Amino acid sequence: MSIDIATLPAVVPNWVAGKAVESSSDRRQPVISPATGRVLAEVPLSRASELDAVVASAAKAQRAWAAVPVKDRVQVLFRFKALLEEHLDELAELCSLENGKLLGEARASVAKGIECVEFATSLPQLAAGRVLEVSRGVECHSVRHPVGVVAGITPFNFPAMVPMWLFPLAIACGNAFVLKPSEVTPLCSTAMARLMKEAGLPDGVLSVINGDREIVEAICDHPGIKAVGFVGSTKVAKLVYGRASAHGKKVRALGGAKNHLVVVPDADPEMTATNILASFTGCAGQRCMAASVVVAVGDVEPIIDRVRELAAAMVPGRDVGAIISPAAHARITGYIDRAERDGLKILLDGRKARSEGDAGGNYLGPTIIDGAPAAHECACDEIFGPVLSIVRTKTLDEALAIENANPYGNAAAIYTTNGGVAQYFAERANAGMIGVNIGVPVPREPFAFGGWFDSKFGDGDITGEQAIDFWTNTKKITTKWSDKHRSNWMS
Ligand code: NAD
Repeated sequence: MSIDIATLPAVVPNWVAGKAVESSSDRRQPVISPATGRVLAEVPLSRASELDAVVASAAKAQRAWAAVPVKDRVQVLFRFKALLEEHLDELAELCSLENGKLLGEARASVAKGIECVEFATSLPQLAAGRVLEVSRGVECHSVRHPVGVVAGITPFNFPAMVPMWLFPLAIACGNAFVLKPSEVTPLCSTAMARLMKEAGLPDGVLSVINGDREIVEAICDHPGIKAVGFVGSTKVAKLVYGRASAHGKKVRALGGAKNHLVVVPDADPEMTATNILASFTGCAGQRCMAASVVVAVGDVEPIIDRVRELAAAMVPGRDVGAIISPAAHARITGYIDRAERDGLKILLDGRKARSEGDAGGNYLGPTIIDGAPAAHECACDEIFGPVLSIVRTKTLDEALAIENANPYGNAAAIYTTNGGVAQYFAERANAGMIGVNIGVPVPREPFAFGGWFDSKFGDGDITGEQAIDFWTNTKKITTKWSDKHRSNWMS
């Protein structure tokens, strides 16, 4: 048994050369359960100077790992997948404990991570390269090489799934991977590193270094790290993209979002209402694919009424998970306070919701703000909580103009029973992931995850085939053989 949540370490270790290693840093912060307020452990904020040893062990391991044929490398991932399934309950519990998600949500997130592992096991089928006789007797073929030591920096909101967007595929590609999880939710990462070791991964191929800005900047600057995958807020994504690319690294940095769900009058009322509800309250609204704005086109009152009715019946702690921290809770309620002050209609007030959760938890009920002007902060900013703003328009084109004007481009969805309307919207909405009657349009494998504009810096998607391109460099080999076999030295 590899994950024992009953005996969490007092101080979360780093994971270096296949072992738990105590950070030498004197800087630490508590890991606090958002659902109870209980301190679970302390996490070290590793010093930049600690990164050298991690990269050195990773570089040594990577040379040997790259020499292992890809068909053998993915065998580790087949075993990792089996271990994840065997330990799904414990990993989900750990994820829920440190993040405050409901247990069912945590299970679903681990299951989605497992899909990414499955995709990585297909690498031998996906990365066979190309060959062509480019002129008589001259052949060109391409082969993929690992990039070397690479890194991933991840956010608090999916402590198991987002790391699994990154490290399984990067490792299958022959890289050694240095993971820097969110310091707010560091526990799942070491648990997964232990499972990778148990699956047979050679020591040093996967490392975990805990920390904050200091270690992120050190990763961006370190000459031994050749590529960085980042997932987090737009502000930090931009910083990481700029800093790591200035050092010549490959960088793909996913940022925040403000997702619009457009509802037109012919939408199926019950399906639309339940779907909008799930989109804005799931993971307590703390996901980059969450619905944040409903753009109501014309008269869709029965649907809005039903969303309100269903949301009002939700009990925080039972149906809605916890907010990550008291500071995030205050930031979210600040948006509601200001919307109220500005005269917007608070159709449902989550500040008043009765919680079934622990008294020390950061709970907030679903909140619906109606009649938001398109330029109001509640319709423009990423609130990252269970808060839905409703903007009213008369036409679909007005709704599209609002969606198109927002600086993010992660997801957008339309609810309609008319295929032509759906196609009109899908062609014109400016986002990387479009939903038709689906409020969380996460592309499942083999389709790739990635937004546009301020939701992503750097080219390509973070998962799927474009991620294989990211975690590899392609070598083109042009070959010409003269026909001299009779004088071959072997004969
Ligand atoms: P965050 O940007 O605060 O943190 C992400 C990572 O960056 C963490 O590992 C953190 O330690 C590090 N970091 C934080 N501040 C830093 C700084 N100043 N300099 C260098 N590194 C820094 O994000 P978060 O609050 O953990 O996560 C929530 C955000 O992530 C939301 O904006 C959400 O939309 C976004 N997100 C996006 C996606 C996506 O696919 N686009 C997926 C999940 C989350």
